[in-house]
Amino acid sequence: MASERRQPASVVEKSADRTDLQAAAAVIPYNQPTVYRNMATIVVAPAVGPEQTQLICPNCQALVRTTVEHRANTRTHIYALLLCLFFCWPCICLPYCCNSCRDTIHKCPRCKAFIGSYQR
Ligand SMILES: [Zn+2]
Repeated sequence: MASERRQPASVVEKSADRTDLQAAAAVIPYNQPTVYRNMATIVVAPAVGPEQTQLICPNCQALVRTTVEHRANTRTHIYALLLCLFFCWPCICLPYCCNSCRDTIHKCPRCKAFIGSYQR
């Protein structure tokens, strides 16, 4: 008798599981395109080196060879300060003239957009 009582109980449990699955299938529709809302577009800057680089400009989508500018950074000023401290003051302008002591800024020659920088 006891085994007969248990069997219907398990059948009831299975039917309860089935209704849970059916409910889940009703909540989560399949084969529908996933729509993402409020997503941010992340633009990754291309890797650039110390020299001019040929690449596709992320702004105007043209194949260009970047124009470079050199700008002094904190390290440039530290080198100049060290030269001044060690009585090499005639050479104080050397870090500001030497490209290897400054950052390289890459820009698009066509749209003048900033593409990236190479920091030393
Ligand atoms: Zn461009």
